[in-house]
Amino acid sequence: MIRDWDITETNLGRLAAGPLPDVAILTTAAVEPHNRHLPEGQDLLHATYVSRTVAEGAYTAGARVIWLPAIPFGVDSNLLDFPIAVHVSRKNIDAMLSDVIRSCASYGIRKFVIINGHGGNDFVPFVRAIQAEIPVHVFLCDWWKVGDDRYAEIFEQPEDHAGEMETSVALALFPHLVEIERAGDGVAAEYRFGALNRGWLRTSRRFSRLNDHCAVGTPFAATAEKGHEYLELVIERITEFVVELAHAELDPAFPMEAP
Ligand SMILES: [Zn+2]
Repeated sequence: MIRDWDITETNLGRLAAGPLPDVAILTTAAVEPHNRHLPEGQDLLHATYVSRTVAEGAYTAGARVIWLPAIPFGVDSNLLDFPIAVHVSRKNIDAMLSDVIRSCASYGIRKFVIINGHGGNDFVPFVRAIQAEIPVHVFLCDWWKVGDDRYAEIFEQPEDHAGEMETSVALALFPHLVEIERAGDGVAAEYRFGALNRGWLRTSRRFSRLNDHCAVGTPFAATAEKGHEYLELVIERITEFVVELAHAELDPAFPMEAP
């Protein structure tokens, strides 16, 4: 069965029969170490799962959406002390996103949702720039943050990188790739400055100064059930937004309420 929402499966015959999609769903990720027990493709695998499931759900609900394959690599300059982090600079990822969005926009697609799976990727400056250059609307979703308000109901330990949430998601989606017996405890060094620990001052952390296993967050309470529960919550919320977006009119006030 050909899935019309998947750009890698649909064909010119179907697309030319129209109408073309209203919303394109893009995915951004990273290839990098996640403690010692999770696959290096973790962010690519989970973000791809989330974006595909959202696209399928929105399409089934009547939204005209198209899913595009992920840009696999992310900004990883602060993880390079661990093998094998693949760092692609922000300007190159921005350039790739820009070309992809411009291609889609040339066929009249105006609404874009970027489902991002990697904390080191920050596309707000990119969105600001491209929206000023061409008539598109780009929405950013760090998918793992979507359920923040319910996080403590599901998980015991806070998540930062390769902790309980990410391990639970991995156990839910690709358990054969999880070697929990290799995992370090995810306990990370704190900053020496109170301002950084309190969060009103920020910097970029070099992960090799946090601990020796490239993790922030303890994975041992992770279960597949928790992973499923969190994914379900997040996917439902994002799908609802995409359906709403697909049907929204691009009037002059968009995306704000009309005055
Ligand atoms: Zn990750």
